[in-house]
Amino acid sequence: MSKLTQVEEGKVAGGAAGQEEPAEKLSAVFPSYARFDISLVKGKGSWVWDDKGNKYLDFTSGLAVTSLGHAPEKVGAKLKEQIDTLWHVSNLFHIPGQDKVAKLLTENSCADQVFFCNSGAEANEAAIKLARRYQQKIKGVDRYEVITFEQSFHGRTLATLTATGQQKVKEGFLPLPAGFKTVPLHDLSALGAAIGEHTAAIMIEMILAEGGVLEVQPEFLEAVAALCKEHGLLLIVDEVQTGMGRTGKLFGHQHYNIEPDIFTLAKGVASGFPAGLMLGKGYLREAFSPGSHATTFGGTPLAAAVMSATIETMLEENVPQLAAESGSYLVGQLKEKLADVPFITEIRGKGLLIGIECKGPVGDIVLAGQKKGLLFVTAGPNVIRLLPNLYVSKEEIDQAVDILSELIHTYATEANGEA
Ligand SMILES: *Cc1c(COP(=O)(O)O)cnc(C)c1O
Repeated sequence: MSKLTQVEEGKVAGGAAGQEEPAEKLSAVFPSYARFDISLVKGKGSWVWDDKGNKYLDFTSGLAVTSLGHAPEKVGAKLKEQIDTLWHVSNLFHIPGQDKVAKLLTENSCADQVFFCNSGAEANEAAIKLARRYQQKIKGVDRYEVITFEQSFHGRTLATLTATGQQKVKEGFLPLPAGFKTVPLHDLSALGAAIGEHTAAIMIEMILAEGGVLEVQPEFLEAVAALCKEHGLLLIVDEVQTGMGRTGKLFGHQHYNIEPDIFTLAKGVASGFPAGLMLGKGYLREAFSPGSHATTFGGTPLAAAVMSATIETMLEENVPQLAAESGSYLVGQLKEKLADVPFITEIRGKGLLIGIECKGPVGDIVLAGQKKGLLFVTAGPNVIRLLPNLYVSKEEIDQAVDILSELIHTYATEANGEA
């Protein structure tokens, strides 16, 4: 049966057979995203343009990905150079670009070893696999369970959605893999009670970004690290969103007095080129012996060139420090302009990962922002999430704050009027 016939019979479209539904109306892309009604076609620095020529100030950065702004020139130059040199070779060969990236990252963190992959979920999969394999093959113990936290987000593969502490990502995907437990954040006794003879690791974000921009309390994190030491567990920090300067330090965990055994990166690490990394301490090295884990596209010459250009730029230009300064300016301005709005319960975050928690849903504010030329997203139903690029200027922050302040004041008044 041809595809067209299937459409005519309503099978591809999923509609009832015989129902008149012109095939061209349905996109050939699975509708797994609730997309905004905007098609972005061009970007430079803090700005993006849609296919109608409208210009927007981008406070989403592709969800913490384009941290050096859109189309950053230095990184672009390295990408173009690499395009004319070598795109891809198998990981069966040495890839010098990987050693360069690994050196940059290990010299600037507590990690000693790096594994290259292609996304955040894959980096977390690698972390979970490394933790299990270290416990089972190196320590010789029957430990496999990973404890995570409610409201966390760790990815969409079967293992990482199971690790994720949000019910909505799991619906319809049963059965889920075994070996995961979730406990409430900041509940030390629940965490203590969850640790058992099969526990291998605890996995945590430094700011639960998707879960509402919830910052982990330092005392809690220190207690988690102490529990890991006491019970022989590995501490895995998911830095997919908080890593690469976003929070005002190169890695989010560097705000705290702890060292993870393993941490993961993706989003901001290659300026929009797909890349993920799993980093670990030297004592974990032998757990990933030859043949134990692999991926075709991890750390290709092309990906490695973009990663090292991104990381070098961040280090040379002290981009994390820019994020810290712009972040405190942005939060200060928001607090000043929105101090009189009871609709807002809290303005929080670190660096340029900022949440504005409100008393009600904020989806309409996001849509209204688009009409005013400002793009931002939510983190859960009631939290506005701001993720500008880390070079965002003071003037751009002022523009965004003016728009946000007007939107929120209007919305808060309307919401009050209706109540
Ligand atoms: C985005 C994100 C992931 C998943 O990354 P993908 O590249 O989408 O697979 C995992 N953990 C955190 C904290 C994230 O923000």
